[in-house]
Amino acid sequence: MRNRSAFFLACLAVLLWGAAGEARAAVNVVASTEDLAAIAREVGGDKVKVDSIARGYQDPHFVEAKPSFIFTLNKAQLLIVVGRELEIGWLPPLILQSRNAKIQPGADGYLDASLTVKILEIPTGQITRAMGDVHPLGNPHYWLDPGNGRKIAQAIQAKLAQMSPADAAYFAARYADFDKRLAEGEKRWDALMAPYKGTKIVTYHRSWPNFADRFGLDVVGYVEPRPGIPPSPSHTLDLIQEMKRQGVKVMLVEPYFDLKTPNSIGRETGAKVLVMSPSVGGEKEVSDYIKLFDYDVNLLVSAFKEVGGR
Ligand SMILES: [Zn+2]
Repeated sequence: MRNRSAFFLACLAVLLWGAAGEARAAVNVVASTEDLAAIAREVGGDKVKVDSIARGYQDPHFVEAKPSFIFTLNKAQLLIVVGRELEIGWLPPLILQSRNAKIQPGADGYLDASLTVKILEIPTGQITRAMGDVHPLGNPHYWLDPGNGRKIAQAIQAKLAQMSPADAAYFAARYADFDKRLAEGEKRWDALMAPYKGTKIVTYHRSWPNFADRFGLDVVGYVEPRPGIPPSPSHTLDLIQEMKRQGVKVMLVEPYFDLKTPNSIGRETGAKVLVMSPSVGGEKEVSDYIKLFDYDVNLLVSAFKEVGGR
């Protein structure tokens, strides 16, 4: 009898321990990129478990679809995507193969983070992917404006509160803390960038319009003729002329592009080639969303100083 009640208590303890484990990680979240994962961690804290698919050092337009991603997606309760067709080349088949009804587009567990943010470069004419342009629905690199990061966090907070109402106050407090730290960061970044308002730059891919808009930089050209289209000799010659005419001294290159063309443009124009990560995880020390701006802003300001201001 004594043994039986001990056994019963042991079983109960295991059950309660399991339930407590469940309560600690209330929502199993998968984000398509490390940027969205970082923001989800800010808001979700220890009430969520967050995985991401694309790594920050990868081109988010072109991610190799590994079978392990299907398993990750199969267990997800919430999938957060960048949207605007950023992931169209690799994510839809993975979602389909996950056979997880909760995270299919349109389901409650599918959150398109682009729906509440400021989107730039929305095409006015007809743009199709047949033309090779990978930004047919406006620029999908919108997380590079901290104001948009705040809106993404708000959308995640609302979604998590809906999925786990018992933790709504916890998510609200986490959001408020993130909002405060982000506002402090914005003051820091604005102060550092203020002397360089209006500085002309060139970028490899159109990754930085929101960043440039937020911090007052003037992007006058791109190494790619169109987003997703590799550089061509005639476009490169035009760009070199334009950079010389406008006196561009800094060129940003995302870490996943070949440096051959940027370096030759740099040699022709005297512009500094600066490899700068547009994502959390693109550099080892860029381990969260606020650190992404701290890192990039400091890198950029050092480069501007080095080339002599404007
Ligand atoms: Zn892009």
